[in-house]
Parts: sequence; C-alpha cells; structure tokens
Amino acid sequence: MASQDLPAAFGFLASARPSGGRIPHAAFATRGSHTGVDLRLRAQTLGATLVHAPSTPPDSAQARDGDTAVLLAGEIYNRDDLFSVLGAPGPESGQLGDAQLVLGLLRRYGLHAFRLLNGRFAAAVCTGRRILLATDHAGSVPLYVCAGPGEVTASTEAKTLAGTLSGQGSPRGFPFADARRVRGLPGVYQVPAGAVMDIDLDSGTAETHRTWAPPLARRIMDEDDAVAAVRAALDRAVGARVAPGGTPLVVLSGGIDSSGVAALAHRAAGSVDSLSMGTDVSDEFAEARAVADHLGSRHREITVPTADLLGQLPYAVWASESEDPHIIEYLLPLVALYRALDGPARRVLTGYGADIPLAGMHREDRLSNLDTAVAYDMATYDGLNEMSPVLSAVSGHWSTHPYWDRDVLDLLVSLEAGLKRRYGRDKWVLRAAMAELLPEQTVKRPKLGVHEGSGTTSSFSLLLLEEGVPERSVDVAKQQVVRELFDRTVVGGEAPEDVSTDEVVRSVADRLERGAA
Ligand code: AMP
Ligand code: MG
Repeated sequence: MASQDLPAAFGFLASARPSGGRIPHAAFATRGSHTGVDLRLRAQTLGATLVHAPSTPPDSAQARDGDTAVLLAGEIYNRDDLFSVLGAPGPESGQLGDAQLVLGLLRRYGLHAFRLLNGRFAAAVCTGRRILLATDHAGSVPLYVCAGPGEVTASTEAKTLAGTLSGQGSPRGFPFADARRVRGLPGVYQVPAGAVMDIDLDSGTAETHRTWAPPLARRIMDEDDAVAAVRAALDRAVGARVAPGGTPLVVLSGGIDSSGVAALAHRAAGSVDSLSMGTDVSDEFAEARAVADHLGSRHREITVPTADLLGQLPYAVWASESEDPHIIEYLLPLVALYRALDGPARRVLTGYGADIPLAGMHREDRLSNLDTAVAYDMATYDGLNEMSPVLSAVSGHWSTHPYWDRDVLDLLVSLEAGLKRRYGRDKWVLRAAMAELLPEQTVKRPKLGVHEGSGTTSSFSLLLLEEGVPERSVDVAKQQVVRELFDRTVVGGEAPEDVSTDEVVRSVADRLERGAA
C-alpha cells in the first residue's frame, strides 16, 4: 500500500487489441470516478476504464514501459519485502505505486512476479502480444475475462462483460478450460484464485499458472510458539492494512475475530473507529460496545429494519456476483451496513474469514472432523467471491480482511488441528494470541456468525415460509431467489433498486407451488 489512504483503483474494465484501441465503458457496481486509459504499446493497444475513489487520483494503478503495461486494482501488503529484492529505491519508495512495483518485478521475474505478491488485487498486464491476468492468492478481487478474435477484455465485475462479444460475429468467445464459466454470460470466465492466465492475443489460447495453493500439510508447534506466531503474523497483516496517519474503521461484531483486528488496528494506528450493525430482531451491540469501550474507539451502531435488510438482497447479489445462497446470507448484513455508512470513502478492516482456516464453525471436539472442514473449505472457496471489495465499494468504501492475508492464511491453515480446538474452545490459538489485548469476556465469547447475529438466515426463511414455501423447500427456494437475482442484476444488467426482493420471492414461491401441485 502506498502512503495514500485508499488504493489507486478499486476496479477496472480493460480491452487489449493488436491495434486501434478503444476505451471500454460500462456500469459498475463499484461506486467511484471513472478514468480512461489509452496506451499504445509496440505490439498492442490497451484501452481501459479505472474505477477509483473520487478523492484519489488513479495514476499509480497503471504503469508502463515501452512494451509492457500494468493495470492494478487493489493493493499490495508486502511492499518492503518486494523493494528489498528490487534493490531498495530509498526514501522515495513510498511514492512508487503498486503497478510500478509490479512492473519492476515483471522485468526481473517474468510472470512469476505474481508468486511474490501478498496483496488484495486483480491485475492485467499487456506485454508483446500477450495479456497476463492475475489474481491474488485468495482471488479476493474477482477478475473475469472474455476473449474473441483479436480482442481480450477483462474486468473486475462480470456484469460489465455482458454483451462484450456481440457484434464481433463470435457468439461465444474463446473457451478457457482452466477457468470457471460464468452462468448466463456466454464467453465470460472467472480467472482462478491465486493464478496468472497467460493469454495469446492472436489465438486466444491461454496457459494458467498457479501462484498459490492452500497448504496441505500441518505443522506441529508448541503452544507458546504457535500463539506468538499467530500474534506476529496478524500484527503485520493489520499494520500493512492501516494507512499512515489515517484512522481505520473496523466493522465490529464483538466476536474474537473482529475484536482482535480492532485491537491490533488500534495499536498500529493509534486510534480506531468501529461500527456495528443490528436489526430489529437481533443484534450484538452490547458485545461490540464492550470492546469499543475497552479500546476507546469512536463507536457507532446502525440498526437496519429486517424488511429493509431483505430488500437489499438484490444489492448483495449485484455486488458479490455470487450465486451461493449461504454466502449471500453472510454478505447481506455487511452490504446493508456498508450502504448505511454515508460520508467520505473509508478504509474498512473486517474480521471476515477467520473461521475458514480455523474451522470456527466447528462445534465439537473431534479433530478429524475439524481438519475435514478446513480442507474442504480451503479447496472450495474459489469463485464464491466472499471477500470481494465490491461489497463495500457499492458505497465507495474500501474493505480488507487481515485473516486472509497470504502469510496469516498460510500459517493458520497449516497449524495442527489441536491448536485450533483446545481445552474445549474453538479458535483456541487465536483467542490465546489476543488474550492480553481484549476483555476476558470477549476472548471467551462463543462464535456467532453474522447471519445469525443479525437474524438474517431466520428472517429470509420466514419471508419464504410466509409466502407459502413449505419448510422442506426453504433451501431450494433460497437458491432460486439468489439465482433469479443474479440473472436480473448481473446477467440482465437491471439496477438493483429496480428489483424487488418481495416480487422475486413471490414468483419463486408460486413456481414451487405449481411444481408441487
Ligand atoms: P462473522 O460471520 O461473525 O465471522 O462475521 C464476519 C465479519 O463481519 C466480522 O469479523 C466482522 O468484521 C463483521 N461483522 C459481523 N457481524 C457484524 C455486526 N453485527 N456488525 C458489524 N460488523 C460485523
Ligand atoms: Mg460474528
């Protein structure tokens, strides 16, 4: 992260051609200013739109030398390490943008540069007649591609690629065997997490290189070493996500994950703001308040009426471009919270994702089951878009998740399961690492998922039951509601404010009833 408070770009839509560039335009869910890029390289042209915070010039999201251009949305967290291999540029290194840094690494390492990065980013590189499309280890900034004869288009939002190929006489575009197809958008594929796709502009053929994979092995450490390692890794991850001189905002439930982040952010930045969300049926305000009081954070509570919350389902699907109903239930309360957060763009830290490497939802003592959960979740997160920055960017905010920092994740996944569940406690190693920073009641507090704490899961179920969906069909109905919302807001390009949750729920309920009759 350069010294500015927000990344130079939150997203992009980019089009590479052999010649005759154009700047592509589209409507993004990400809110911000649009800046056009038109670069004529020796062997191709790159036209792009960068989406960025109005207060932040997007200059450092792009870099070029004669034959190569880099676009980067998001930010890099191990800049100092990277400078150390490039030959330290000295005091001005803070001014060097992340795209410039990647350009330097590409010169030295070729596409293997991306194996070195610990970040939250999506990048497009044009070099010679090739286009490299790269995601961070977690694919935390989703990246999509669509390629037809003589043009490769890439975007951080699938919806902006709808219709890309029309008018080119190519109904489907080139297929990419290694990438996931996006349902409903022919020719559009999602770049895998932790990968670089190396695409030939002339033939559309691609080679995919993995740059990261979740650890499969487990390491044995004694308690003290494990606790110290977790504390140190998280400290670095949070420190790298706090802008110098800025006050970070932590979305705080009062659970151990977000409270730990708040405590470390407070130490790193000297001050922290915190924000909690509840609904009229359920909240965790008292638990979050206890942490805010302990840290002395400037704390705010936002109550979203349940009807409004469910009314924002179209926004959650539009922003995340996810079709997984469970993921949407986790994301909905956060989307509602971000949308209620008015005012200038903020840098937001979350405690999201700690449960995945630590099996925090695991509520029993058998370690074999715990590691099954970790292995499964780490093998299947790709394409869910749980970590997407668009969730907060729909209202202009930049969010980042320290538990999915590459080094933190490498460590947490690889710890032997008995460190994760110990003395009858879930996420034991994390609780122990945070013990001296937080009130005892917070350290001991049992896990409560955001979908539970806000009553989202039960409210969504209730809405369906009230429309006549039988109990046994509630899960299927949720799947269908999310699918229809995806079809309308992502595939069909409808604005989320024009899509009514109630109407979609009613049509799904009718369909299920007719099917049952
Ligand atoms: P959870 O599902 O509880 O692990 O939630 C994931 C993350 O979302 C937490 O670590 C917090 O950063 C944030 N979060 C969860 N619940 C709330 C809430 N009620 N208010 C504000 N932020 C929350
Ligand atoms: Mg929670």
